[in-house]
Amino acid sequence: MELERELPGDRDPLERIADWGEFHDHMPESKLRQQGSRCMDCGVPFCHTGTLIGGMASGCPINNLIPEWNDLVYRGLWREALERLHKTNNFPEFTGRVCPAPCEGSCVLGINDPAVTIKHIENAIVDRGFDEGWIVPEPPGRRTGKKVAVVGSGPAGLSCAAQLNRAGHRVTVYERDDRIGGLLMYGIPNMKLDKQKVVQRRVDLLAAEGITFVTSTEIGKDLPAAQLMREFDAVVLCGGATKPRDLPVPGRELEGIHMAMDFLRANTKSLLDSEHTDGNYISAAEKDVIVIGGGDTGTDCVGTSMRHGCRSLNQFEILPRPPEARAADNPWPEWPKIYLMDYGQEEAAAKFGGDPRSYCLMTKGFVADAQGEVSALRTVEIEWNKGGNGSSPFNELPGTEKEWPAQLVLLAMGFLGPEDTVLDQLDVERDQRSNAKAEHEVYTTNVDGVFAAGDMRRGQSLIVWAINEGRGAARECDRWLMGETTLP
Ligand SMILES: Cc1cc2nc3c(=O)[nH]c(=O)nc-3n(C[C@H](O)[C@H](O)[C@H](O)COP(=O)(O)OP(=O)(O)OC[C@H]3O[C@@H](n4cnc5c(N)ncnc54)[C@H](O)[C@@H]3O)c2cc1C
Ligand code: SF4
Repeated sequence: MELERELPGDRDPLERIADWGEFHDHMPESKLRQQGSRCMDCGVPFCHTGTLIGGMASGCPINNLIPEWNDLVYRGLWREALERLHKTNNFPEFTGRVCPAPCEGSCVLGINDPAVTIKHIENAIVDRGFDEGWIVPEPPGRRTGKKVAVVGSGPAGLSCAAQLNRAGHRVTVYERDDRIGGLLMYGIPNMKLDKQKVVQRRVDLLAAEGITFVTSTEIGKDLPAAQLMREFDAVVLCGGATKPRDLPVPGRELEGIHMAMDFLRANTKSLLDSEHTDGNYISAAEKDVIVIGGGDTGTDCVGTSMRHGCRSLNQFEILPRPPEARAADNPWPEWPKIYLMDYGQEEAAAKFGGDPRSYCLMTKGFVADAQGEVSALRTVEIEWNKGGNGSSPFNELPGTEKEWPAQLVLLAMGFLGPEDTVLDQLDVERDQRSNAKAEHEVYTTNVDGVFAAGDMRRGQSLIVWAINEGRGAARECDRWLMGETTLP
């Protein structure tokens, strides 16, 4: 009742687009303790109770013990707070930086006041733990003699490997990319999550705890899936959902139109390999850039283009602009579907004078220049049909056609599901959305000894859900291997 919600100020948008360093700053300890004291230690802590309402997360999907560590921070007991945090979360330094914080959407204080700054406190606890040297490798005390292969090294694969290793199994993680981390490494850009200082630091810890990492090896191509089945006692599939949604409109084949992930991956790889001196990336410098898609991936394309020095930037979203405050049909503790400026839009607004997003806009086609490269994009405004009557969910509005200059177009319209190779080779059944078929909290596929978790099982989602699934799959795999389990 006495203290307002406060967040640390981010670095100034115009300053931060000149480099690839993280843009979040930390709050001083006194402020963090004050913010921790805003937590009311509710009898029913909705923040801690991760569940799905209307398909969206409400509360923390890994059931972080939020009221407990908020109180420990308030009392200055940082090491104890870190222990509580690591009980439920293998990687708080990832979620503390990039989780969209469904916990805050369901914070009870949020009913009539701004929510507790849960995510930032989580980040502060784990960063302090690293700074103080409290986080060190903790190899298991005994080995079971069982061997498990984990396919894919994103947050699902890493959390699964961490838990299985803790239970004493010998774990080998296979990754087709040249670096470990999945979308933590090559999806989310460096300014949101530092690759060397944060992602690699955790991978090094896991390796020191005894996990074996094998990079540049695609299961199903470089190594047949059947070989894994022969050499390991169990296999956990955490290959993500990386098939991108395309935009089949006239002109799609033109040069200069790219999938968002091709743009983001090449950018981070070139940054890490050579600080961009090798030139092996798609540059937005001096170009009119259009990003199609208004989600996280689109925002990361905006932030990356800003750092390349694009000439102009527009971002198109086919859905309507969300309301400023919760709509009547989106009450607490649901995930709040409200209008927000993310970091990329803030940067574009600081440089070009306004939010780059346009809503209810549909792309009709691309225009070529004499060299066969994209030079413009044609759109039309649409109106969504309320109530879903009629054959189409929306109508095009006559007279709203427009042409936008564009020499670089980035398609960030979501993902369709997992790639087929390894699932097909193992004869793993699929669900209606082509994901590996296995129930949440059970993770067992139709093939004995094969488990599936993360985006490969649930479709493109969030890091915190991937950690939830990786931990759960480890628990079920351990139970299958040993007949019982003590993993949470
Ligand atoms: C650009 C972008 C930004 C995002 N930003 C956020 C964010 O800010 N916050 C958030 O919570 N979520 C975000 N997400 C979603 C989040 O990154 C994913 O939900 C999460 O990474 C899924 O984890 P995963 O381990 O299941 O799969 P992934 O992270 O996709 O990892 C799968 C790994 O498996 C490897 N692999 C696949 N098949 C094989 C094979 N046959 N052999 C060997 N290796 C294989 C892949 O190379 C990949 O490295 C973002 C997603 C994208 C694309
Ligand atoms: S992992 Fe995400 S949902 Fe859970 S406490 Fe952290 S920010 Fe909140």
